[in-house]
Amino acid sequence: MKNIIGFTKNQLIEELVKLGEKPFRATQIWKWIYVNGAQDFSQMTNIAKETREILAKNFILSRPATSMDKTANDGTRKWLIKYDDGNEVEMVFIPEENRGTLCISSQVGCTLSCKFCHTGTQTLVRNLKATEIISQIMVAKDLLQDWKSPARLTNVVFMGMGEPFYNYDNIAKGVSVLTDTDGLALSRRRVTISTSGLVPEILRMSKEIKTSLAISLHATDDQTRSSIMAINKKYPLDELMKACKIYNNDNPKDKITFEYVLLKNINDRDKDALGLVSLIKKYNLNAKINLIPFNPWTPCGFERSDDEAIIHFQKILKKHNLVAPIRRTRGNDVMAACGQLKSDSQRQKKSQR
Ligand code: SAH
Ligand code: SF4
Repeated sequence: MKNIIGFTKNQLIEELVKLGEKPFRATQIWKWIYVNGAQDFSQMTNIAKETREILAKNFILSRPATSMDKTANDGTRKWLIKYDDGNEVEMVFIPEENRGTLCISSQVGCTLSCKFCHTGTQTLVRNLKATEIISQIMVAKDLLQDWKSPARLTNVVFMGMGEPFYNYDNIAKGVSVLTDTDGLALSRRRVTISTSGLVPEILRMSKEIKTSLAISLHATDDQTRSSIMAINKKYPLDELMKACKIYNNDNPKDKITFEYVLLKNINDRDKDALGLVSLIKKYNLNAKINLIPFNPWTPCGFERSDDEAIIHFQKILKKHNLVAPIRRTRGNDVMAACGQLKSDSQRQKKSQR
C-alpha cells in the first residue's frame, strides 16, 4: 500500500475519485495530516467512519523511524532517518531566535563528489521519493512537538545529503506539499533549494518551482571550480551565471544566495574575492554571498581559512557593496554542520539486490 504522505493534492484527488470519494475530501485529509499532524486515519473525526475505513484499507499513514537523535551544544539537532528499505539519511534542525530551519536530504548519498564535501565520499545509493522527502519534515515536527502555532519550524532548506536537481520531479512534488496553504503552508521564499549548479534544472525551477535558490559557487574561475567541483566541467561558470540571471529575471524579488566555502589557499585569496565581485557585476545579478567557514572531516585534505582571512575576504566584498554574511558554524560537535553529513547506507552490489 502507498503512503498517503507525499501525494500532491491533485494526485490525492485522483486517487480519492477512483475510490468513489468526493474531491473535497482531499483538503480535509490534508488538514489532518499536515496541519494537525495526525498519525492515524481514526483521528480524522470530521470524516465519516466508512470513509476512514476506505482510507485505511487503501493507504498507510506512517513515518520512517529515527535511528539517531543528537543535540549539539548550541541546540542544533541532528537526526538519522531510516526508511523501510533500511537506507538512512541525515537531517538537521537549526533553531535561531526568530526562526527554525530544517535542513533536509534529497538523495541517499550523492550523485556528485565535490572534493571538500563529506557526503560526496558516499556514492549515490538512490533518490528519495516524494513521500520520503516530506516525511523528513513530519518526523522533525513530531520530535519537536511542533504541531501547534506558532511553529518552531519555519524554513526548509534542501542542503542535506544529495543534489536536489538530480531528483527534480520528487523535489517538485515535495515542494508542492510544503507550500500548499492546505499542506505545510510555508511560503516559497522560506524554502530554499541548494544546487551545485545544474543549469537545465535551474532554468526549469525558475519557471516552475520558484522557491528560493542557492548556488554552491565556491570558486570564481573555471580552473579552480572544476578542480574542486567536477560538475563545473559540464556547466562552466558562464553558463551557470547566465542561468542565474534568468532566475533573477523570472523572480525579480528574490535574491540568489551564492554559497562560498572558504578553503585555505585555494579560494580565499584577494584575487578570488575580486573575482567574485567581477562575476556578480558582469552578469548584473541580484545576489548575496554566504561565506561558509569550511567544516573539516578526515581525511579531506583541505584546511579551513583562518578567521582573519575570512574577515578580510568579507571586507573586500563589502567594499564593493556586496552583502556577504559569514555563516556561523552550527552543530559541528555532532558532525551536523554543512558538508559533514553522511550515512552508512551503501550501494548494494547487483547480486545482493
Ligand atoms: N548538493 C547541494 C546541496 C547540499 S550541500 C549543493 O551542493 O548545493 C549544502 C552546502 O554545504 C553546499 O553549499 C556545499 O557546497 C556545502 N558544503 C559541502 N561540504 C562542506 C564542508 N565541508 N564545509 C562547509 N560547507 C560544505
Ligand atoms: Fe553532493 Fe552538494 Fe556535496 Fe557536491 S557539495 S558532493 S553536490 S552534496
